[in-house]
Amino acid sequence: MTDLADLTVTGAAAGLRAGEFSSVDLLEAVHRRAAMTEANLHAYLSIDRDGAARAAVGADSAFKSNTDLGLLQGIPVALKDNMVTRGLETTCSSKILAGYLPPYDGTAVSRLREGGAVIFGKTNLDEFAMGSSTENSAYGPSRNPWDPERVPGGSSGGSAAAVAAGSALVGFGSDTGGSIRQPAALCGIVGMKPTYGLVSRYGLIAFASSLDQIGPLTRTVEDSVAALEVVGGYDPADSTSYPGDVPDYRAGLESGVAGLRVGVVSELNGEGIDPEVQAGVDQCIAGLEQAGASIVELSLPSIEYALSAYYLIAPAECSANLARFDGVRYGLRRRGETVEEMMSTTRADGFGPEVIRRILLGTYALSAGYYDAFYGQAQRVRTLIIQDFQAAYEQADVLVSPTSPTTAFQLGDRTQDPLSMYLSDVCTIPSNMSGDPAISVPIGLDGAGLPIGFQVMAPALGEPLMFRVAAEVERQAGFEARATHATSEVVT
Ligand code: GLN
Repeated sequence: MTDLADLTVTGAAAGLRAGEFSSVDLLEAVHRRAAMTEANLHAYLSIDRDGAARAAVGADSAFKSNTDLGLLQGIPVALKDNMVTRGLETTCSSKILAGYLPPYDGTAVSRLREGGAVIFGKTNLDEFAMGSSTENSAYGPSRNPWDPERVPGGSSGGSAAAVAAGSALVGFGSDTGGSIRQPAALCGIVGMKPTYGLVSRYGLIAFASSLDQIGPLTRTVEDSVAALEVVGGYDPADSTSYPGDVPDYRAGLESGVAGLRVGVVSELNGEGIDPEVQAGVDQCIAGLEQAGASIVELSLPSIEYALSAYYLIAPAECSANLARFDGVRYGLRRRGETVEEMMSTTRADGFGPEVIRRILLGTYALSAGYYDAFYGQAQRVRTLIIQDFQAAYEQADVLVSPTSPTTAFQLGDRTQDPLSMYLSDVCTIPSNMSGDPAISVPIGLDGAGLPIGFQVMAPALGEPLMFRVAAEVERQAGFEARATHATSEVVT
């Protein structure tokens, strides 16, 4: 019999409803798996034993009284530690928030609780979600379940590692420039970033507010749909929340791709992409063509500048957002003779080097005399990117590319060279700049046995189409390999 920790959300939901096992059984299986893998992976910053046990018992008694709260009822969930959870330490992997116990739940979190989900723990991330490897965590890196010498990607690396290793059935992360999709690709799971505004950001600790989106990390496309159904939808507490009806994500899951136009973005394929990754992606594109899609080569010239513009816009917004961590309101406080000294010592001690780099960069880009040349210019580039996407979506229904230019890299490989780390996100950043949805689907392994991710992008609110193509990619790839290398033998 399969270990319950290896079930999909959809499979577990069916088993729970058929009375084959209880939520308490499921939780025990996940605890057992975490006990085997955590010493190596360090996916979690904290595990909420008591809260999870209460939630599992609650979910079981709801089932007994025939109350069905939806597909996540009774399912163990991992939350990135930048999602605010009432009474549960929320650190953003930063020393500046050590010990912070939020007085409220973010909207996504409260929707999960209302849906009967079992919040298992808070996962590791790059500090304030700035990074692509989880190595920028103040609490030590997470590791990749496929090879613990390698990074799980980031910044939602903890959630990705947990789902890949079976220490959660579903995880949530945030994606500002690729932080859900890239770790999903590197860990061999599905990761999706919804249309900007589809999931409330209320209670997501802000990095770059015009780019941040919460989304799910799952083992299958159908699970991604199930998770998005629970957390998505209008929220008056977030002024950027999309006020219309959410699309029917399931509508096309079984429809295949016959008749669809699939655009291959020339700027995101080929040059700069690892040949094995590109070969996997090309094979996948050929499969879509065989399944009846027409393939169109498309150029979006301005996305060549997406990365550069992102590294002005995201730091600019972060420099404003992180001003609130001043030693007065949250977490760490250092002593000082004056208020200013207290604040500057707190910030100097509390923030790690990457966060400090971003704050400096952003403050510079926004300062008088430079604002128009840097921030203003980056915003104009963003407009060009949006226009390029709009033009592309007149010729294609969805766009495709690799998710990450490489498979998982070794720990330490890119930490000395910020630019090489930043390049991890060249393929994912464009959809953040345009605000459109995108998903990464695992399609196979490279020669070293590491997972390759395939990205499907769609126009705003095009989730049904995106999921439809992703489901076909998943069916064709038949990627069922599970990360089984996360044994209890501790890697040092
Ligand atoms: N790696 C990118 C960065 O460091 C994206 C991070 C994210 O999406 N949160 O900014």
